[in-house]
Amino acid sequence: MLQGTPILVLREGTERQRDKSATGNNIAAARAIADAVRSTLGPRGMDKMLVDGMGDITITNDGVTILKEVDVEHPAAKMLVEVAKTQDQQCGDGTTTAVVLAGELLKRAETLLEQNIHPTVITRGYQIAVQQAQKLLEKEIGTTVKPGDQGILLDCATTAMGSKGVFGSRDHLAKIAVDAVNQIVEPRGDKVVADVDKILIQKRHGGTIQDTELISGIILDKERGHPRMPKLVRQAKIALLNSALEIKKTEIESKINIKNPSQIQNFLDEEDKTFRQMAEQVKAAGANVLVCQKGIDDVVLHYLAKDGVLAVKQVKESDMQKLARATGAKIVTGLKELSASDLGSAETVEEKKVGDDHMTFVTGCHNPRSVSILIRGGTEHVTQEVERSLQDALKVVSSVLEDGVVCPGGGATEIDLAVKLRQWAPSVGGREQLAVEAFAQALEVIPWALAENGGYDAINVLIELRGAHGGANANKNIGVNVSTGKADDMWKLHVVEPARVKRQALSSAIEVANMVLRIDDVIASKKGGGGGPPGGGGGGHPH
Ligand code: ADP
Ligand code: MG
Repeated sequence: MLQGTPILVLREGTERQRDKSATGNNIAAARAIADAVRSTLGPRGMDKMLVDGMGDITITNDGVTILKEVDVEHPAAKMLVEVAKTQDQQCGDGTTTAVVLAGELLKRAETLLEQNIHPTVITRGYQIAVQQAQKLLEKEIGTTVKPGDQGILLDCATTAMGSKGVFGSRDHLAKIAVDAVNQIVEPRGDKVVADVDKILIQKRHGGTIQDTELISGIILDKERGHPRMPKLVRQAKIALLNSALEIKKTEIESKINIKNPSQIQNFLDEEDKTFRQMAEQVKAAGANVLVCQKGIDDVVLHYLAKDGVLAVKQVKESDMQKLARATGAKIVTGLKELSASDLGSAETVEEKKVGDDHMTFVTGCHNPRSVSILIRGGTEHVTQEVERSLQDALKVVSSVLEDGVVCPGGGATEIDLAVKLRQWAPSVGGREQLAVEAFAQALEVIPWALAENGGYDAINVLIELRGAHGGANANKNIGVNVSTGKADDMWKLHVVEPARVKRQALSSAIEVANMVLRIDDVIASKKGGGGGPPGGGGGGHPH
């Protein structure tokens, strides 16, 4: 009876793509993202200038920063952006690698799809391949680091920063990164943990990158609250407060009926008394330094100055926490609760001039392991890129300390995996073998891109690399020397990376590639903005 009557399941205006067209579109979108960041890979990679809606610019070479800044529409492309974010959280480095790899896996999958190989077979083959790759990485390619080997840590830090715009100062910055992580590493069972979030980073433009320094203690990017306060306090007793020292203005307008002038005076006196009490409470607890997360009224600052207390206001919450850890202070919510036992200690608290601004340095802390990095550089864009590079380097050094396994960089690891996987593929058999081979081929995109970005003939480089990794004289450490465009020993060139970066890049790339491949149906509901009255209020302007 119903024959010929279409049944509408989806709301009108919903777009639907199925099977090949869905997969094809998704792959194209994801590849577009991968292609966009490929030219930034490696030490010879180019930078990108990103301009946001407000006209602010960011100049960077950092994969995850690029992808975070651009406004991506397509859902499959968004998935690739997520990969970069995951990689960044887990390792801090290898974000471009993960995205480029995912794009290449999809490109190879497309070729297989054209040969009528079902997506399920491809994803299964990829899964088999990545498991084998992880095994090879752990057993054959990775090298265990001797505990206490500082040279390797420095090499990893320099390699991580090699591709960033801080090239000229990378030795200086690498040393800072290694020293900083060494200070915060803690034993846990028979392993160690190095939580880089414990390292406080402040930046001030002015000076040069070479002026960037490691400071044992905490730096606050704030000056003291009142010019009469001491600039320097020795044997500091520090109170940390996370509420404001102000009299709250009432939300509703309140009216006070004043009948004669003495009442005004009473009212003002009362206010003054409250402010004075606040300052007295700080003094009574025995503090000579007060750090407040919120504001402090000018009158309170005045009384604190009179009492010789150095007070700093409007400090970031994360800085407060680091300060608490460093000085042993407890953050209190109200002055009433403040007692001597809540105070932290430091040898000195001092306001110093850095560039054109003032900063407060808390040194000789109760916890000697607290460190800060003060980043300097010509302009804000420079200090920002230095910060991103240092973040990468800090995480890389901490992963080497925690895991103790490194691999050669410069594409050596990827090409070695590719050669070994190709040899192993026949043992898989069936159609999955084709996917394993495609996976191996996809890995070669990394040395390929490193060579290409260096301006070399990528085909020649790849042929040379494959030769060096196979046969009797195979050497797993041969990668791309980006200065010569030749195959070279990466250990000798000190180009090494934590195994964790490679492991995570492989697993995140395969995860997203398989996720995209498994989708055979895209059902997109109508955009929220497009739902206006048809033909109403003409004008093609989006805003
Ligand atoms: P990612 O975001 O993936 O870390 P990068 O732009 O930092 O991307 O590039 C990382 C790649 O560059 C890695 O494969 C690394 O081995 C390689 N690399 C870094 N320094 C060198 C070098 N001096 N010579 C050759 N390859 C290098
Ligand atoms: Mg990197």
